[in-house]
Amino acid sequence: MQDFDQLHRYLFSEAQVRGEMVRLQESYNAILSAQSYPSEVQVLLGELMAATSLLTATLKFEGDISLQLQSQGPLKYAVINGTDEQKLRGVARWEEGTEFGDFLSMCKDGILVITISPEKGERYQGIVKLEKPSLAECVEDYFAQSEQLATRILLGTEINPTQPFAWGMLVQALPGDESDKEAFERIAYLTETMNTHEAKVLEAQDLLYRLYHQEKVELFEPQEVEFKCSCSKERSAAALSGVDEQELLDIVAEEGSVTMNCQYCHAVYSFDAIDVKAIKSGTYGQNSSTVN
Ligand SMILES: [Zn+2]
Repeated sequence: MQDFDQLHRYLFSEAQVRGEMVRLQESYNAILSAQSYPSEVQVLLGELMAATSLLTATLKFEGDISLQLQSQGPLKYAVINGTDEQKLRGVARWEEGTEFGDFLSMCKDGILVITISPEKGERYQGIVKLEKPSLAECVEDYFAQSEQLATRILLGTEINPTQPFAWGMLVQALPGDESDKEAFERIAYLTETMNTHEAKVLEAQDLLYRLYHQEKVELFEPQEVEFKCSCSKERSAAALSGVDEQELLDIVAEEGSVTMNCQYCHAVYSFDAIDVKAIKSGTYGQNSSTVN
């Protein structure tokens, strides 16, 4: 059994370069099982998931990152959210019955919106036009624009109905005057020799040795990655608290309850008239009979 659904961080101790590798299987499968996505959308979600995990690992604080694609092409919208604890969730919308084509046709006139939301502090948003032929290169553009750090990213997937697999690698020059351009280029070049087959069959240690045996690499303890939705009945109730009470009661009268569907995990939360009154009076959740 491979050590999938883990994020590995490593450091090239003599080159002022850091690296990350993520491999996803269970967590990827969980996101795909929410809807019957066309294979092109599955591939894109896998790449977006791996990219989000890699970017989340660059966070130096508690919070989350979302990577969102919006386009005028067949892929309308795709988003993955990731927390600093590597809990990922995501969803995509697409146009039925159209040819997807390559990445740029699928995401025609598209943008990548990267939102970083620290638990404490200001939210940061970066927007990159999708102009490069792959998602990996578009994410590199983001780093060039926002952090001005030389970064190489590789993303790959294998679509298989029972065991889909996605992986990603990132190597990045460390900030500061000491960054060694030549060393970064050499390591980036070695990283580019990675492929999906090797990502799938080799242990993390063996993979790093295969790629970088001439370098000094320090590998840190891996971090678990999992699919986890942050929705809850209480959060849905909080979202309803801004809606007019009579409007909610009218829905209850017509349909029996107000229901909220989570777009990420398809959980359904329903609220009756007693719940609505409790939500509006600010006492929802204080009485055990109103929870679930
Ligand atoms: Zn959910």
